Amino acid sequence: MIAYENLLKKTRVYETLKKDVDSKNLSHCIMLVSEDEIACKNLCKLLARMLLCEKDDCGMCKSCKDVENGVHEAVIVPQALNADGLKDFIATSYKVVDSKVKILLIDNFQDIALKEQNRLLKLIEEPVGNTIFIIGVTHLAAVLETIKSRATKYSIAPFEENDLRRALLDYYDSYNVDKALKFADGSLTKAINMMDNISFIDSYTFVQNTLNDLDNSAYLLDIIAKCGLKNKRTFNDKKELLLKYLSAFEIVIKQVIEYKSGLVKETEDIIKQIETKYNMATLVNVEDLVLKAVENTQNNCDPDGVFYQLLMDILEVRFKCQIS
Ligand SMILES: [Zn+2]
Repeated sequence: MIAYENLLKKTRVYETLKKDVDSKNLSHCIMLVSEDEIACKNLCKLLARMLLCEKDDCGMCKSCKDVENGVHEAVIVPQALNADGLKDFIATSYKVVDSKVKILLIDNFQDIALKEQNRLLKLIEEPVGNTIFIIGVTHLAAVLETIKSRATKYSIAPFEENDLRRALLDYYDSYNVDKALKFADGSLTKAINMMDNISFIDSYTFVQNTLNDLDNSAYLLDIIAKCGLKNKRTFNDKKELLLKYLSAFEIVIKQVIEYKSGLVKETEDIIKQIETKYNMATLVNVEDLVLKAVENTQNNCDPDGVFYQLLMDILEVRFKCQIS
């Protein structure tokens, strides 16, 4: 089984591809487009499997298994995306294979330098025999116009949250899935990256608690002791941790604003609690303060100092906005 196969099979683009394959309307150069890199790569593989299956994309036959395991002799992939890798790829693409169709597969086409993409033009313009080129690309701007114009493009839309949740629960626990889904914007890749970066979830929880506890300056030292910046040895480790916190700040503030303005009706209890403690003017100002802190951190200001200043500024802006 291809990872997230069931999720991908529910998409409109899969249905369209299946229909085009079944009715033999598929062009010889397919470009699957999505910023969702994992979805894009897996769909490329699924399409290759579908084209080569001895039955009807069964997922069980030897051909399907070989595609899944990356050992099917009719699926040709470049070993590297540099000049030498592509030269080998082109040479291999002429080899005769014993199957109904030959697949040339590049699922991360955006990683090929523009000047190297030219090498592939002839292959795409003058396909040999029963060859289908499958291209996966996360950013269309990274592809030569001449190649784009020769390919039939299929875009993968963001996933429905419920579908994504169901698929992710096969691999991750529900606590992390629910947190990650809030910021994934329907992207499998974003959700997975967040969950594989467990400290992101921790920093997110820490920031929620910080905004909730930041009632007065008495808590300030407590928060600073808990944030862990002091335990980081190098400047870069401190910087990295602070940037994680700051991006969590951006997300949490956005959530509170969305809830306060009624854009979102249901949210976590802690967001509801924070919402009662900050008025809209404060939230908007805090959003700016966080952006300023991000900028200062990226400009290599002292992370301990930036964090302390941010908390002080939040207290101050909260005091001012609450009064006026
Ligand atoms: Zn099969």
